[in-house]
Amino acid sequence: MAEIQIKNVAKSFGSYTALHDINLTIANQEFMVLLGASGCGKTTLLRIVAGLETATTGEVWINGRRVDHLPPKDRGIAMVFQNYAVFPHLTVFENIGFGLRMQKLPNDEVKRRVERTAGLMHIEQLLKRYSGELSGGQRQRVAVARALAMEPDVILMDEPLSNLDALLRLEMRAELKGVLAESKTTAIYVTHDQVEAMSLADRISVMHQGRIVQAATPIEVYRNPATEFVAGFIGNPPMNFLPAEPKGRCLWQVAGLDLQGPDTSHPLNFAIRPEDVSPAAEGLPATARIVEPLGAHLLVTCDVGGAMFRAVLDSDLTVKPGDRLTLAPNPGRVRWFNPETTQAVA
Ligand code: ATP
Repeated sequence: MAEIQIKNVAKSFGSYTALHDINLTIANQEFMVLLGASGCGKTTLLRIVAGLETATTGEVWINGRRVDHLPPKDRGIAMVFQNYAVFPHLTVFENIGFGLRMQKLPNDEVKRRVERTAGLMHIEQLLKRYSGELSGGQRQRVAVARALAMEPDVILMDEPLSNLDALLRLEMRAELKGVLAESKTTAIYVTHDQVEAMSLADRISVMHQGRIVQAATPIEVYRNPATEFVAGFIGNPPMNFLPAEPKGRCLWQVAGLDLQGPDTSHPLNFAIRPEDVSPAAEGLPATARIVEPLGAHLLVTCDVGGAMFRAVLDSDLTVKPGDRLTLAPNPGRVRWFNPETTQAVA
């Protein structure tokens, strides 16, 4: 059992506030991803949970015990950080077994756990090598294996796959997901890679300027972004926005197209994901500007009412720059935002 509670945590560095009043509970065995752009405070929050950084205010609880006054080693966690402090003068075997030796586990148990986790991370053939001789990606896998070998209740990871090439990263991502689900570990994982976040997370906490702007399942964050920031940050290409004019009760006009929408008198922004439009007799009038055949589909950057609008279309369509299209939004996928507050409107 390991639930993590972050209560009213704030962090300032001098006059700069890196974290504002963070409240987050990570359930037992949950895989929580902290996702956000560089500088949003993800690493700082993870370091506060780990005990490598002290919060200016607030509390951290692990498994019903307040831990923010405890040193990292007494918090019952394993960590994998960006710089993955692997000891270069030790072999891979010794590195992975390091924490287990500290715990004075018997030799055969150390060997069993080292070999198992090395196998999971595909580095079993490197066990006798000195870590100083390894590539960055190999060292990173040693660091992950070392943390997993501890069989911790809680694992904290900061961009643990960042040094791997694209293919290996994809493979390791799937492995890691499987391993952590099987080991019933509670995990907090920091990344700025939204695909990695979507793939790994039970829940994603999207961070922006020192705040958590939405904490929800990947599909919820994708389909129902809480703010325009989340809508633009998640999804590649990002969500399209167009200004909507009120035309009557629950009736809105978007680039000349009449649409049913929320019952409010505020001006709104209409939003739709690029894959949620398709050519039809009636829809948004668009002029194709850039056409990118991406194999699985066609990415068409258009002009809609003077605004840039991206559409992900069937790759069998023939579209050339300058072509006029009529793009119908899938009504179930349209979202609305208040342009003043940038919050979603139901
Ligand atoms: P990245 O993805 O680039 O690692 P991040 O979201 O993890 O970014 P943090 O490393 O948590 O961001 O940093 C948040 C903010 O706090 C940044 O503006 C950073 O410059 C600042 N910061 C972090 N550590 C310190 C420090 N020790 N002293 C002063 N400012 C700091």
